[in-house]
Amino acid sequence: MSDHEMSERDHKKLGKELDLFTFSDSVGKGLPLYTAKGAAIYRELEKFVLEEETKRGYQHVKTTDIAKLDLYKKSGHYPHYKDSMYAPIVIDDEEYMLRPMTCPHHFELYLSRPRSYRDLPMRIAELAQLYRYEQSGELMGLIRTRSFCLADAHIICATEEQAVEEIGRALDLIEHMTKVFGLTLGVDYRYRLSMGDRANTEKYYKNDAAWEMAEDLLRKHLQTRGSDFEEAKDEAAFYGPKIDIQMKNVNGKEDTAFTVQYDFCMPDRFDLTYAAADGTKKRALVVHRSSIGAIGRIMAFLIEKYAGAFPVWLSPVQVKVLPVSEKHIDYAKEIEKQLMEQHVRVETDDSNESLGKKVRNAKVEKVPYVLVVGDAEMDAQTVAVESREKGKLGVQPVAEFVKTLLTEIKNRE
Ligand SMILES: [Zn+2]
Repeated sequence: MSDHEMSERDHKKLGKELDLFTFSDSVGKGLPLYTAKGAAIYRELEKFVLEEETKRGYQHVKTTDIAKLDLYKKSGHYPHYKDSMYAPIVIDDEEYMLRPMTCPHHFELYLSRPRSYRDLPMRIAELAQLYRYEQSGELMGLIRTRSFCLADAHIICATEEQAVEEIGRALDLIEHMTKVFGLTLGVDYRYRLSMGDRANTEKYYKNDAAWEMAEDLLRKHLQTRGSDFEEAKDEAAFYGPKIDIQMKNVNGKEDTAFTVQYDFCMPDRFDLTYAAADGTKKRALVVHRSSIGAIGRIMAFLIEKYAGAFPVWLSPVQVKVLPVSEKHIDYAKEIEKQLMEQHVRVETDDSNESLGKKVRNAKVEKVPYVLVVGDAEMDAQTVAVESREKGKLGVQPVAEFVKTLLTEIKNRE
């Protein structure tokens, strides 16, 4: 890719041109404001997560963005993440924190009632808003922000075998979702086995045997899947090793997009247990994972991947109706209404511009479908369809176009 092409694909530049998001000094650095168009993509990504995860047995929950400081001391996050957390907020003489992580909330939810081996694995998921202090020099468009929504989950498992199976399922889910995005393992992203450092007991929870076992387990798992991966020392979470899914932006800078982690530490800290088949109390295991990472971050990668030309299901405007002249506006609006009733994101260009100019504008906006309506279309209740990818598709009855469009959207083609 040439330098010019790279800068043309930069998500910050395209975000402005396509009116997807903005930043305001009055709101604050690293705090993105999504426009209606940007938010349309954002919501589609959230919907994708909810649909795919609930289909795979995840229970989507909702917990708060703020919690007592003591909760993060209990989880052990506080000493490790202190520098990336914001200062406490005092409420009724107690200190609260904007959360940097979802884990402790989900563990408290798990603890709210007794659990049996029959309940496990329990896949607790959330589209969780998180807050992390990033230095201003580290902030980067939507890739590194100070507040973001993570497609997070914690899978509480009964046994090691169950945990390994769940790690496999999490990777399957990630591979499925990235495939829908058109991303290829080995080209657009790669696996990294992120390991601890036994010598660094300040950074990592001390339990050499557990680290050995967990790292070995993840390594063997990746090998059995036949996935290429790199090993990286000193990149683990403090509570255990992880498989990171690494992605590069257009400028070649690599970031962890999603992650799957094996945790042998939090279950002790939170005393996460379950009743085994024989009635005894057993210690649970936890897999932390994210399916598509932070919504804003994946959106940035996708803006750059597609250079703003989103597949129809993700497009902020899916269809644009272009009346040939003023007398066709009412008919155009009728079609717009029909599409809106089917939840299609549609706009009518009723400006005084020539048809040629209207078509060019729709192309600049990278709208997937343009419907031209003039006398012939109005009389026959049809539309002349032009696709961004396939060019002119000819005149079609409105119902036929809507049917094909809805199928394409539903299947996320
Ligand atoms: Zn977690």
